Amino acid sequence: MFHFDYDATGQLLAEEVPLQKIAAELGTPTYVYAEATLTRHFRVYDQAFSAHSHLVCYAVKANTSGALLSLFASMGGGADIVSGGELFRALRAGVPTDRIVFSGVGKTAEEMQEALDAGILSFNVESEPELLLLDQVARARGVQAPVALRVNPNVDAKTHPYIATGLKESKFGVPITEGRRLAELVVRSPGLRLTGLDCHIGSQLTKLGPTLEALDSVLALADELRGAGHPLEHVDIGGGLGITYSGETPPHPDELGQAVTAKMKGRPELLILEPGRVIVGNAGILLSRVLYVKETKDRTFLVLDAAMNDLIRPSLYQAHHEIWPVERHPERGNFTVDVVGPICESGDTFAKARTLPRLLAGELVAILSAGAYGFSMASTYNSRRRAAEVLVSGDRFCAIRARETYESLVAGETLPPWQRGA
Ligand SMILES: *Cc1c(COP(=O)(O)O)cnc(C)c1O
Repeated sequence: MFHFDYDATGQLLAEEVPLQKIAAELGTPTYVYAEATLTRHFRVYDQAFSAHSHLVCYAVKANTSGALLSLFASMGGGADIVSGGELFRALRAGVPTDRIVFSGVGKTAEEMQEALDAGILSFNVESEPELLLLDQVARARGVQAPVALRVNPNVDAKTHPYIATGLKESKFGVPITEGRRLAELVVRSPGLRLTGLDCHIGSQLTKLGPTLEALDSVLALADELRGAGHPLEHVDIGGGLGITYSGETPPHPDELGQAVTAKMKGRPELLILEPGRVIVGNAGILLSRVLYVKETKDRTFLVLDAAMNDLIRPSLYQAHHEIWPVERHPERGNFTVDVVGPICESGDTFAKARTLPRLLAGELVAILSAGAYGFSMASTYNSRRRAAEVLVSGDRFCAIRARETYESLVAGETLPPWQRGA
């Protein structure tokens, strides 16, 4: 039910639009997002928490496209940002400033100023030195910065080590045992106002236990702070809910929502959530064309026109993405191939020894579950232009980002005067 399905003739559609048509008009590689899926995922997640007053701050880094940010804002969503660039994008897309929370271990003074000037809802502060700098920056501007302490509850999120963020050895958050002392430091700092507690233990979580365990620790600290005369306005449990790439069975948002709101029952704090992947992951595919079917003695390689610069998850996390032909030809049977891109790295591999329907050079494939951490992690390595992005809505589609040009690849580059003979 992701709105990427075959029609009766064996053509893969995004909602009602044949992917063939998008490729013919806009070329490949191209990211294609289904608005129906984006809308449904946002609504389901939001409604899952309806038993408690809450705010869904979509994690911008999962997919930073302005059209998506603006869609979620129109549905009542806010934004979880991690840089000045994401603040710029969120504001440009019309996300109300009082629905923006700012996470990240390395906020610069300049980014703090920009966010203070915008008037965001909360700085999720991740260390004592950050706290001290934010106090200085806010005082210099004659304002008070709203602060939620990001605590590290030391729970094992049981996910890939690169995306686990809640263990005590991780760079994120302050140890929960330091929470009380730092909260009191916030309260004593004239440039700061203590508004909440925050945690985010990792991404692609497929079990509820670790999140609930983290929430228990956060709520215990919130109670301790209230007892000490520092009641909080909000509690933020981050994002992280996993999706199905291939066979994983993560909890449904309703299960998470029910368990979390049960723990929040009767509590005064607003609940903030920061989902990314679960909203956008399965709402997008990467559309690519087979350049060559390359046979060697040992293997068959399917060489695509998409590469690790477009979608780095397989190279970075050994992530699995399903690959579907855009046109079905069941009569041809299957073959087992390594699916690779054109980049000069052996790591530029989407799948190894994968059995796929037999494909020919020139045909199209869809790499599934590419809506999250796909385009937002893209680079121009090998001087490849970043892909176009397309949003589909029913039978309509629109390039929400044009394919990068050779000119935009070199924008900002210049020769030093001594090379110009000046
Ligand atoms: C990445 C991130 C998220 C979103 O994580 P998902 O797994 O995509 O839901 C939320 N909050 C913080 C602080 C993050 O770093």
